[in-house]
Amino acid sequence: MNSYDFQDIDELHWTLGLIQNLEVGLLVVDRAGTIKLWNGFMENHSGVEARKVCGQHLFSLFPELPESWLQHKIESVYLLRNPAYISWEQRPYLFHFKSNRPVTGQARYMYQNITLIPLNSPSGEVDHIGILIYDVTDTAMGQLALKQMNRKLENLSREDRLTGLFNRGHWQECLEQEFERYQRSQLPTSLVIFDIDHFKKVNDTYGHQAGDEVIKMVAKTLQEQARKTDVLGRYGGEEYVALLTGTNGERAMIFAERLRERVESVILPYGADRIQVTISLGVSELSFRQGSSQVWLEEADRALYQSKQNGRNLVTLFDEDE
Ligand code: GH3
Ligand code: MG
Ligand code: MG
Repeated sequence: MNSYDFQDIDELHWTLGLIQNLEVGLLVVDRAGTIKLWNGFMENHSGVEARKVCGQHLFSLFPELPESWLQHKIESVYLLRNPAYISWEQRPYLFHFKSNRPVTGQARYMYQNITLIPLNSPSGEVDHIGILIYDVTDTAMGQLALKQMNRKLENLSREDRLTGLFNRGHWQECLEQEFERYQRSQLPTSLVIFDIDHFKKVNDTYGHQAGDEVIKMVAKTLQEQARKTDVLGRYGGEEYVALLTGTNGERAMIFAERLRERVESVILPYGADRIQVTISLGVSELSFRQGSSQVWLEEADRALYQSKQNGRNLVTLFDEDE
């Protein structure tokens, strides 16, 4: 043996030491799925030593692994002779290891990114696969927390996503404020609530996406008709509300009637189709009669119900005698 050979042996020794102590999981399996290498990371997290694992079949030893899915991935690596990557977002983990990050204490298990590497034999053929397991629990927890935060912010936001009108929650707050303001100022103020007629038929005939376009069109028509000071909201699926400040019942009826006519006249092109809808409306003016903003809204809603009862595509002013 010359000095050159000694250096080779040294390097091999170092490489093995590095692999053993790498903060990344590394295992090697052959074509039959027999485990050939199992590094320190895998020992520590699985609790099973290399000498007990090597020579065993991967899927018999770890029956919790998604066998057919992983086998499919492995086959494609053999076939294409290219590495494959699996991110935690596709599949949170491959090996069910406990999370040992006290900082990110919420994680119940270790989130993992996986890389599958084709390994060549000295003769040049791919007959083994190296599997690298990266612990990405911190990244995953960070991203999941961010997503959760965004969802919360969305709920807090005032806008309805589809139409850009105020969402129900925020609109209701405005309604309450307007009710309070009226108690002090007695400036006339009215409420209009309306609902698209036979909207289920639109969804059934043209599809849900077309339905969404109709919902947007009606919102746009409402915005075009309204004044800057009006407070417009999407109350539910295809139900809208408009708070007309400084407007008495009579004028609110004129507004509502004009809106009804406008919506009726719009022809919405959707693919080869032309969609037309009508709306039914209810109007209620605020007075000292209503004891709460909720009662005010209920009155408008009852007037809307009257419009539906009387044949739809109608406007009704709430009348306490009816
Ligand atoms: P009516 O004249 O009595 O109001 O009849 P309608 O068919 O409009 O009945 P209703 O108001 O009860 O039906 C509302 C339908 O709107 C039910 C639901 O499937 C649909 N819908 C609710 N939200 C959305 C949405 O965001 N998009 C779409 N496309 N459809 C929605
Ligand atoms: Mg409807
Ligand atoms: Mg409805």
